[in-house]
Amino acid sequence: MTCTVAQLKEVSKSYGAGHNRVLAVDRLSLKVAQGDYLAVMGASGSGKSTAMNILGCLDRPTSGEYWLDNCPTGGLNDDQLAELRNRKLGFVFQQFYLLRELTALENVMLPMAYAGVARPLQRQRAEAALVRVGLGQRLHNPPNQLSGGQQQRVAIARAIINRPVLLLADEPTGALDSTTSHEVMDLFGELHQAGMTVILVTHEQEVAARAKTILRFADGRLQEIATLASPPPCNSRLAP
Ligand code: ADP
Ligand code: MG
Repeated sequence: MTCTVAQLKEVSKSYGAGHNRVLAVDRLSLKVAQGDYLAVMGASGSGKSTAMNILGCLDRPTSGEYWLDNCPTGGLNDDQLAELRNRKLGFVFQQFYLLRELTALENVMLPMAYAGVARPLQRQRAEAALVRVGLGQRLHNPPNQLSGGQQQRVAIARAIINRPVLLLADEPTGALDSTTSHEVMDLFGELHQAGMTVILVTHEQEVAARAKTILRFADGRLQEIATLASPPPCNSRLAP
């Protein structure tokens, strides 16, 4: 039996009010199973980032329910949501968002510091994670001494360091050249192969083709689910 790690039930998100109201996500229902590798595509403004931010507990739905790891998130306050994010989710952004004043190692240690992991163990695990993403020689460099691809690797190491149940990436190759994009995508592929559940937003068909399933958004709605290989039970994903 496959295990559901995340489920959106009729989730909507609107911004503004009255004439200025924008329905960014419109009654989105989605089941994410353990081991899924989903690519999210769609025109700019179609609600991809809004949906990802809700999945990442960075934003809350206006209506509907979001269950993460069999836990309803609706009743959680901001602190509880932050704790959930720290323990269960990894998020990778186009712009990396590393802390400039910290080294690669310290950036990767940070989520473990919030989680209360003892400092020697933080160092040990952060070092192993950076070696895993190919940055064993760059542990003590701050972000401005790293290339874009290297910075994104640090961000990925940081995202996986607390062993999240779900790894989210919003256009992670959007700021990278094509060679570096391939390397970063290889890394997502390796993480998926190792068992990580991944949802990734991309504009590039080539990037999306690496995923098992493509979710197409249009006007805030999930318009189509296309399965590329080894068909999972698609219909069950659409069910609320
Ligand atoms: P995508 O990531 O697919 O480009 P977004 O989720 O960023 O789309 O945006 C969906 C819609 O919601 C767009 O019309 C956008 O302008 C609007 N939107 C997103 N975030 C906000 C916000 N914080 N305030 C107001 N409108 C927003
Ligand atoms: Mg976006």
